[in-house]
Amino acid sequence: MVLAEMVSKSFGSNEVLKSISLEVKRGEVMCLVGPSGSGKSTFLRCINHLEVVSAGRLSVDGDLVGYREANGKLYELAPREAARQRRDIGMVFQRFNLFPHMTALGNIMEAPQRVKGLPKAQVEKTARELLARVGLADRADYYPAHLSGGQQQRVAIARALAMEPKLMLFDEPTSALDPELVGEVLDVMQGLAASGMTMIVVTHEMGFAREVADSLVFMDAGVVVESGHPDEVLSNPQHARTQAFLSKVL
Ligand code: ATP
Ligand code: MG
Repeated sequence: MVLAEMVSKSFGSNEVLKSISLEVKRGEVMCLVGPSGSGKSTFLRCINHLEVVSAGRLSVDGDLVGYREANGKLYELAPREAARQRRDIGMVFQRFNLFPHMTALGNIMEAPQRVKGLPKAQVEKTARELLARVGLADRADYYPAHLSGGQQQRVAIARALAMEPKLMLFDEPTSALDPELVGEVLDVMQGLAASGMTMIVVTHEMGFAREVADSLVFMDAGVVVESGHPDEVLSNPQHARTQAFLSKVL
């Protein structure tokens, strides 16, 4: 589903991703960990084409991100085509960026109505099903300000799912939450993984990584230092940098 081949990304002279190669197969969950500034968010943003890679190939579901290939040449996608490509990828951020002036239900209905132009009754039915799926059927008419951080984050997940993405990207989805609210969000993510969603999750929740992820990737300074099955990487890290990092987060 996601294939990165020697992907590099520079901001000016600062190379923040250095020849990243990795693969996430359909239905798999990859957890991405690493110290601050190691390039985790930048990598997610490249997958979503919010950043353009400087070198290498990055593809989602067989399609190059942001480019079309014909006769051995690369052509940049027109904005409309790029937007269409991005629509298939759901993203959830650390800060719950719900629309404050819309209810939980309104937040979930917004994109399917505006972007896909589906009939309102159909969109609302789906939105209510999604709210039930994240355990918030009784909060449809609440505004974000009247929801807890955990509830807001679950609405944010439901909102992303409303566009029927084939890939979900999570960037530290529980880092801004009070500790007692982390579990309810991870539970929703675990359910999503069990339903077969392909996911890349930047997180320091190693319990989640161990239980849910198919692979764990440790990045440092823009390089994939180590990757493998979470049990292996967590129990028997091969590199000193991985060991040092894990000793701080475990
Ligand atoms: P954190 O754990 O703190 O979220 P991260 O692993 O997500 O860190 P990134 O946000 O990807 O790290 O940043 C990697 C590097 O790229 C940092 O040195 C950062 O300053 C730099 N960087 C990120 N975005 C930009 C940008 N738009 N312009 C210039 N430099 C950037
Ligand atoms: Mg980040």
